[in-house]
Amino acid sequence: MSEAVGLYLEEAKRSSYGHKLRQMQELAIRDPENFWSEVARNLYWFKTWDRVLEWNPPFARWFVGGLINASFNCLDVHVRTANRNKVAIFWEGEPGDRRVLTYMDLWREVCRFSSVLRDLGVRKGDRVAIYMPMVPELPIAMLACARVGAIHSVIFSGFSFEALATRIRDSGAKVVITADGGYRRGKLIQLKKTVDEALAKTSSVQSVIVLRRTGSDVEMREGRDFWWDDLMRGKSLDSQATPLESEHPLYILYTSGTTGRPKGVVHDTGGYLVWLYATMKWVFDIRPDDVYWCTADIGWVTGHSYVVYGPLLHGATSVMYEGAPDYPAPDRWWEMIERYSISILYTTPTAIRMHMRFGEEWARRHDLSSLRLLGTVGEPINPEAWRWYQRVIGGGRCPIVDTWWQTETGGIMISPAPGIELVPLKPGSATLPLPGVHAEVVDENGKPTKPYEKGYLVILGPWPGMLTTLWEDPESYKRIYWSKFGHNNSLNFHFNPPAVYYTGDYAMKDDDGYIWLLGRADEVLKIAGHRIGTTEIESALVMHEAVAEAAVTGKPDPVRGESIVAFVTLKPGFKPSDDLRVELIKWVRRTVGSIASPSELYFVSKLPKTRSGKIMRRLLRAVVSSTPLGDVTTLEDETSIKEAMEAVELLKKAMMNNRTADSS
Ligand code: ATP
Ligand code: MG
Repeated sequence: MSEAVGLYLEEAKRSSYGHKLRQMQELAIRDPENFWSEVARNLYWFKTWDRVLEWNPPFARWFVGGLINASFNCLDVHVRTANRNKVAIFWEGEPGDRRVLTYMDLWREVCRFSSVLRDLGVRKGDRVAIYMPMVPELPIAMLACARVGAIHSVIFSGFSFEALATRIRDSGAKVVITADGGYRRGKLIQLKKTVDEALAKTSSVQSVIVLRRTGSDVEMREGRDFWWDDLMRGKSLDSQATPLESEHPLYILYTSGTTGRPKGVVHDTGGYLVWLYATMKWVFDIRPDDVYWCTADIGWVTGHSYVVYGPLLHGATSVMYEGAPDYPAPDRWWEMIERYSISILYTTPTAIRMHMRFGEEWARRHDLSSLRLLGTVGEPINPEAWRWYQRVIGGGRCPIVDTWWQTETGGIMISPAPGIELVPLKPGSATLPLPGVHAEVVDENGKPTKPYEKGYLVILGPWPGMLTTLWEDPESYKRIYWSKFGHNNSLNFHFNPPAVYYTGDYAMKDDDGYIWLLGRADEVLKIAGHRIGTTEIESALVMHEAVAEAAVTGKPDPVRGESIVAFVTLKPGFKPSDDLRVELIKWVRRTVGSIASPSELYFVSKLPKTRSGKIMRRLLRAVVSSTPLGDVTTLEDETSIKEAMEAVELLKKAMMNNRTADSS
């Protein structure tokens, strides 16, 4: 076990598993049907379910016979109460423009826009692709789809036309909703143009709705393309939410592509909403007077679940921001926290590390005392970033909820749950599974590992927020998620028959049952018979004062199986040098152990990341082992890969030169 992880053991020993949390866990395990019924009763059902679950592994139907509508639960429910004039969204555009939408405002827009969709012939089950910047019309479009029972497929607005075309083609979308453009780091992004290029490569789309955001010139094709405001003009508010079967798909969303080709994850309506209702309460402890800000782009699942559906289900007040975190200056976020008195901030380790790199003086300029809870998601958070987040942003007073989950799980699965009971936190651990989540760490044979033994993170299914399938590909759904460990009888489970969901993540449990995520299972390094998660070495590297970010991968090695290769970006004020390289290698050896010593270490100016900000180690692995890169459609910046290639080439050449020099 590494010291980087072991550092917190002392803290761990002192902690005890929360009593209330354990009680809820037990309730959920003893009688899951009753447990989830209780949660589901907080939502509005046009018709109550006949059965909580129908389970034909690995296919689950939740709240069978129930009729529900997501848009109704997010809007109509609140509009009928005194909350109608409560702020739903404080929105801020990158250039500084602002809008405030109450629940009533949002309800009106959604009603009218759902009439627009109905008039364009959009019916229950039709797919609608949404390719928009982070403006209020994006959630409006999603909720309008949900209102009529259309299945939305939101595509992140930073994607190129190929990625957009593949997703439109795969879902067979009938309508595309987009904008003339958007703003990102001061630049205009031409969205409609990209849609036109994508549509030249697809055939299912009949209509395109274009929102005016930037006022850029766009080409409008007669009979196919319509302006949003033209269609909305004079539309009546009379657009009832369609009662939908609980298992009716709410959306299709593609995963980020960190480990391979993105997968088209399908979520139902009833089970998904129940999961979000519960997790918003347990994890964020959401309260009527909170101002909540999840910084995720709605193009990712975090945005779907915790910008749109989760907070709206609870009638919460959210902040939504269109642009880059460092525009016009690195304190944009902190300025916004002060301006709106934000109480809950939910973001990613990659964003936190970026702000660390800018330096804490930017946060110090603002009053962040309104914050009471911080959250992170997306990647393992290294203890160094956790501590910075807590000290500098949280003023040492806010708990951090490190939330582990996936596009596939629908909502948070493993996380501290201050809404139930806050357990002692350990920087770098997502702590314990939420009630109803049966998470295990198992070895290659599916047997639970001992404390501190590493293995695969699995979830014993089903659970209400789970994906129901991959779009039009149930075979891949079975194979990817449910076949690795199959029906495992060594694991004890409350649902019969139990099935083991494979997360693809590598993890370990400690003495207290706390779960530590150690990276992707297919990125685990196998060195001289040992298995080391990439996170363990990366955490050690970023503990060094010079290092901003690190990515570690393996390279085939005839003797050791694999050798470790590290890519490192430096904090301002530090320069790459051979001395620093040697020092960092020694540092890893000292903190993690000699087995984890990198054999190569490269300085780069940026790491290859997905457009959602996650490190793409598989590309670095391809670079160091000279194999094909594979799918790069979700890569944010191609120059990052070029830079890595050049760095590797340079060292190779230098070594060759040395060798020739030695032999002559
Ligand atoms: P793909 O499946 O296409 O490779 P992806 O897995 O990056 O893409 P997401 O569903 O957005 O797509 O990400 C889920 C993954 O993110 C998890 O499986 C895990 O690896 C990582 N992750 C999310 N939250 C955490 C967390 N709190 N701690 C550690 N890892 C996390
Ligand atoms: Mg994944």
